[in-house]
Amino acid sequence: MDLKMKPKKVYEIRSEEAVNEYVEDYKIFLGKCKTSRETVLYLADLLEKEGFENFEKIGKTPLDLPKRFYAVYREKMLVAFHLLPDLSCGLNLVSAHVDSPKLDFKPLPVIEKEGFAIAKTHYYGGVKKYQWFGIPLAIRGVIVKTDGTKLNVDLDGEGYTFVIADLPPHLDRRKGEVGEVFKGEDLNVILASVEEKDVKEDALKLKVLKVLNAKYGINEEDLVSAELEVVPAIQPQYVGLDSSMVGGYGQDDRVCAYAAVKALVDAKNPKRSMGIILVDKEEIGSEGNTSARHHFWLKILRNILRSLGGELEIDDVLMQCSMISGDVCAGVNPSYPDVHDLSNAPRLNHGITLMKYTGKGGKYSTNEANAEFVAKLRRLFNEKGIIWQIGELGKVDQGGGGTISKYFAELGMEVIDAGPPLIGMHSPFEIASKYDMYETYMAFSVFLESFE
Ligand code: MN
Ligand code: MN
Repeated sequence: MDLKMKPKKVYEIRSEEAVNEYVEDYKIFLGKCKTSRETVLYLADLLEKEGFENFEKIGKTPLDLPKRFYAVYREKMLVAFHLLPDLSCGLNLVSAHVDSPKLDFKPLPVIEKEGFAIAKTHYYGGVKKYQWFGIPLAIRGVIVKTDGTKLNVDLDGEGYTFVIADLPPHLDRRKGEVGEVFKGEDLNVILASVEEKDVKEDALKLKVLKVLNAKYGINEEDLVSAELEVVPAIQPQYVGLDSSMVGGYGQDDRVCAYAAVKALVDAKNPKRSMGIILVDKEEIGSEGNTSARHHFWLKILRNILRSLGGELEIDDVLMQCSMISGDVCAGVNPSYPDVHDLSNAPRLNHGITLMKYTGKGGKYSTNEANAEFVAKLRRLFNEKGIIWQIGELGKVDQGGGGTISKYFAELGMEVIDAGPPLIGMHSPFEIASKYDMYETYMAFSVFLESFE
């Protein structure tokens, strides 16, 4: 018996070819999906191609289980299930969130200032504002007209690039905390610098509105019912001389959303019913009807129970469910190890990180996984050769944060947070180990297919 727990590294065990094949597909996904909507629609399409049926099409008829199907809610949430006829033993579920920190256009974004047309933004989620200055930016999203027409905006896809310009060091004598020096109202995206000809007033603003009108047939008021999101225009890339890491925007938490879908698709012979639940709005505390707090997927399960007949109640099913709440965690950064308790800190390449709890201070605002559940999971992962590590969210009282796990735990499920560690989390270019993202996929697969 090993008395000491020995850290293991994913690359010592996994085949380089299998890892690279997974990561290449993931990079394509991450490069294309920079908003919640784009992520949900891309992954729904992937599920459809893999033979999952759209629940909209089968929802009215009684279900003949087993069945693999998916459902999309407001283009911002995605669930998919593989259901077996007996639901009394619950489901194995993996959840993740599809939103990432970003800058949203204000309702009336376009103004003119000092020879530029600029777009005013309101940041979303945990943004370190200084990181958004001086990098190429993209504008993505939708504009919905009053007649209901929905226009997709993908300006970097059409070759446009934007920027929030910073001060040169020569002129920057601002003093104070970095969080105070870079202000939210300074997150202004430069849209244009040459005005519309022969116009006396607001010639620059009119130039922008004219371009938007030519492209989308819209006016300024249409921007009020738009969701235009400023995101980094940087594409995912391998990082390091050994190309062992992937850098890219939005890996929190699209790395888990992608792994969850791939794992569900690939798990063909589950011991229990299984499913994935992808939600929006995690980065602002899971508020609103597209967040983890809205259980639209429960309605689907209720309908299915009804169509199956029998005595089984939804609450009984939920209390038998087990969930991995897939989310990234903060890995040790070589420049800043001191924010961690290094004996309980997640490290790159050491596999999926089990986070028994997150939260703040004295474990406030978190779900803590029960020891019995952690024991079962540990046994399964060890039996199946999954490389896992444990992690905490930094030193006690150092900071804190929450995930979506508590919203599922309060329904009675067993839930644990787990995912790959990132360095530079919430930055425009987050770094993950390619081995950890593969191991996360492997861990989700084993959990969905074999957890009992
Ligand atoms: Mn996250
Ligand atoms: Mn986050």
